[in-house]
Amino acid sequence: MIDLYRVLPEEMDILVTGLGQPRYRAEQLLQALYHESPKKMSDLHQVPSSMRDALVKAGYTIGSENEVHRVVSEDGHTTKILLKFDEKTLIETVLMQYSPSQDKTHPRSTVCVSTQVGCPMGCVFCATGQMGFEKNLKAEEIVSQVLHFAHILSQRGEHITNLVFMGMGEPLANYDETIRAVRLLTHPRAFGLGQRSITISTVGIIPGIDHLADEDLQVKLAISLHAPNDELRKKLVPTAGPHSVEDLIAAAKRYFKKTGRRVTFEYALIDGINDSTKVASELAYILKGNGAHVNLIPMNPTAGGFQRPDRKRVLAFQQVLRNGDVNCTVRVEKGAEISAACGQLRTDIMKKIR
Ligand code: SF4
Repeated sequence: MIDLYRVLPEEMDILVTGLGQPRYRAEQLLQALYHESPKKMSDLHQVPSSMRDALVKAGYTIGSENEVHRVVSEDGHTTKILLKFDEKTLIETVLMQYSPSQDKTHPRSTVCVSTQVGCPMGCVFCATGQMGFEKNLKAEEIVSQVLHFAHILSQRGEHITNLVFMGMGEPLANYDETIRAVRLLTHPRAFGLGQRSITISTVGIIPGIDHLADEDLQVKLAISLHAPNDELRKKLVPTAGPHSVEDLIAAAKRYFKKTGRRVTFEYALIDGINDSTKVASELAYILKGNGAHVNLIPMNPTAGGFQRPDRKRVLAFQQVLRNGDVNCTVRVEKGAEISAACGQLRTDIMKKIR
C-alpha cells in the first residue's frame, strides 16, 4: 500500500488524472489531507466515493499514527508525545512554544521531528544514540508527526511556525525520505510551511551536507560539532571517524558559499568534558572569521552519567567565544523536567512496557 501522505502534489496530479478524474480533484485531495486531518479513506468526503474506491483499488491508503503517551511541562510550553505507527515504529516528537513577540498574537510553535527509530551515530551523551539504530522513518511518518501537532494546535486557534529536524535520528542518514518530507511540508499545495522556517540538523555527514546545498531548498542547516578537535569529538561522537572537524568546517563553508545561508554550529556543553575555557579558545580559533554562529546547549542529564555545567561555566565559555569574535548564543532551555533529552521518553516507556 502507498500512503497518500508521501505523494507530492505533482505526483498527485498524475495519480488523479491517471484514474480518469479531473485535475482539480488532486487539489481537493491535498486540501483535505493537509487541512482536514482525515484518519482513513472514508473521511475524504471532499471527493466522490467512486474516486476513493479507485484509490484503494490502486493500492493507496491513509496511514495513521496513534498517540500512545503525552507529557506536558509544568509551564505548559513543552509537549512531548510518543507516536506509534506500527509495532516496530515508536517515535517521539516535541512541541516547544515561546511567548509571542510584541507585534505577534500567536506564540512561536516549533515542532522537533524524528527521522529515524534509534540512531546509528551513537553519540555517547544521547539516549537515542544509546538505543542503537532500528530503522529509517518514511517521509509520510515524518510528515504525520507535524500534522499531529498541527491538529492539536488548530483546536486552540494556533499553528506551527517552525520545524527543527533534531529529534530521534540523523536526518542526513535518511536523506531521501527527509527531503521528500521537507518538500511535502513546504509545498504551497500541501502543508505550505515556509522553507526558511525549517532547520535540518546533522552531526556531520559531509556528502549529505554537499547534497543539501545543491537542492532547491531554502532550509537552514545546523551542524552538531560538540568539540573543536578530532580527539575529543571522537570520544563524544564515536562514528565521527571519517569526517574530521576540519572537513566539517570546510563543508559548512561550501554550504554557505553555495546557498548564502550561514550554518549554525550546535555545541552540547558537558560538565568537565568539553566546557573549559581552554576548549572554548580552541573553538574560537577554528571558527573565527567564517561568520559562524554557535548555539551552546547546556546538556540535560542523560545516558552515560554526563552532567550539565553550572551557569557560571556556560557563561565563561560563551564569553571566550565572543572575545574571539564568534557569534554565540545559549539555547533557551525547554522541558528539562519532562525528559526532553531525545530518546528518553521512548526509552522510559519501553522499559515500562517490558
Ligand atoms: S545526538 Fe543526534 S546524531 Fe547523536 S545519537 Fe543522538 S539523535 Fe543521533
